[in-house]
Amino acid sequence: MLEGLMQDFPLTLQHLRSRMLGVNADSQVSTSTPLGLRRASFHELSERIDRLAWALKKLGVQRGDRVGTFAWNNQEHFELYIAVPCVGAVLHTINIRLFTDQLRYIIDHAEDQVIFVDASLTAVLAPLAQHLKKVRHYVVIGADRDDGALPGALSYDELLAEAPSEPFAYPQLQEREAAALCYTSGTTGNPKGVLYSHRSVALHSTAALISDALGLCRQDKALVVVPMFHANAWGIPHAAALCGADLLLPDRFLQAEALAKLIEQERPTIMGCVPTIFADLLRYADSNEVDLSCLRNAACGGSAVPKQLMRDFEERHQVRIYQAWGMTETSPVATYSRPSTEQASSEEHWDQRARQGTPLPWVEIRLVGEDGMPVPSDGQTSGEIEVRGPWIAAAYYNDDSGEERFDDGWLRTGDIATADGHGSLQISDRVKDVIKSGGEWISSVALENELMAHPDVLEAAVIAKPDERWGERPLCCVVLREGAHAGAADLLEHLRPRVASWWLPDEFAFISQVPKTSVGKFDKKALRHSLEDGTLAGRVSVRRA
Ligand code: AMP
Repeated sequence: MLEGLMQDFPLTLQHLRSRMLGVNADSQVSTSTPLGLRRASFHELSERIDRLAWALKKLGVQRGDRVGTFAWNNQEHFELYIAVPCVGAVLHTINIRLFTDQLRYIIDHAEDQVIFVDASLTAVLAPLAQHLKKVRHYVVIGADRDDGALPGALSYDELLAEAPSEPFAYPQLQEREAAALCYTSGTTGNPKGVLYSHRSVALHSTAALISDALGLCRQDKALVVVPMFHANAWGIPHAAALCGADLLLPDRFLQAEALAKLIEQERPTIMGCVPTIFADLLRYADSNEVDLSCLRNAACGGSAVPKQLMRDFEERHQVRIYQAWGMTETSPVATYSRPSTEQASSEEHWDQRARQGTPLPWVEIRLVGEDGMPVPSDGQTSGEIEVRGPWIAAAYYNDDSGEERFDDGWLRTGDIATADGHGSLQISDRVKDVIKSGGEWISSVALENELMAHPDVLEAAVIAKPDERWGERPLCCVVLREGAHAGAADLLEHLRPRVASWWLPDEFAFISQVPKTSVGKFDKKALRHSLEDGTLAGRVSVRRA
């Protein structure tokens, strides 16, 4: 073999830090606070990151140690995003919305040595603290709403103030070293740790800059609504450090009104969040005078994005939403749905927009049937998505129970989809959510999409109901808009011309809200439980024929 003669430059996050100090020094981070926005330049941040590096050293953090964060999206969280991996430690972003048992499990499993916690969240963590034997220090960020719930905790501001002002001597890191750790929000079994390397984060954040994906650039201001504790906030903070986009971080002020006002005032060009938040924002924008048209690229994912939501946003508020698909295990962005034409008029264009899109460069995808063999990309045949690439997990951290999720170098995603001739995915279900009726699959995602296009429907989640004759039948759980009156028969008539006749449900459940998971997705497991134990409210049977 003749080896190439190019430099073996390590892809580590230290490069992000040096760009923040140099070429991107003037870019800004703005954080929402009760008193308005708090702003700092990347240059100011770089100095604070150095001080934070000194503080981590003082706290005895060693290379490879896990350092937890329990925080909203704010400036300090961003400082930790960069400083912790740059000193060679591993940033473990903890989901603040998990139940106590799950929190205890993942903090123990990760063996976090230090946890940085927002003052407004100390009361959530405090009841757990006595059980977390491995945590040596708690560091409280800010003073806003700190009730002293964590006795003996250190202060972030004081640690930084006491740190030397000289530049920190960062160790030379290898690109394959671990940089960050995030646990899946797994609704079955224990959460599983995904351990990102410097290289995987570097490559994933570079991919966020390409125009067929998020297309983040120096001229952008990115509003990061997706939590920084969920899958690296889709890589947006890293990508901003790399390209110099400004960051707008809403902290805990996530209600539709607060977000709409922030958008109007600060004019972000890019935003990332899950469909439920976009739906709240749309409702607010429809009933209040608010100009959101600055958003040229609103990235939405985490669950299927209803076509109607995208259409309403674009037609009524000039906001363009693009759909992305991925998971914690895929860093997370694996596909992005950019239509081949920007013409928004044709039905074909909207159908394309409602797909999960094509894989990003370096990501490869195949669909595998129940027999374990790849199925054709013919737009018809469904299979489980398997994915591989340089930012896709190869194993779970210290956990053998997830071995069956890996198939000969591919990650089995548990998502069922079809792909067209260009590899553009259309997800129909999670493996565990599929409805199998008479041996054929009914797509709960497609039914939900059609139901949510009905003007009276606020939310719809479709689950499988056991059926003696067909095995399973779809049961549509529907939340109506305030003051709306559509009944089961109306919704059935709405669906009739839109889906195959054997997909039509024989039962609806009119509920007051769809339960949500800790990351804001529809929690169909909770719905299935209430169906099983007979507590599912508002059930109405309907004759299909
Ligand atoms: P998480 O690891 O919590 O980010 O969840 C990943 C899962 O969210 C995926 O396996 C999908 O089931 C779902 N998901 C993410 N993005 C989309 C999307 N655009 N459409 C449908 N499902 C999605």
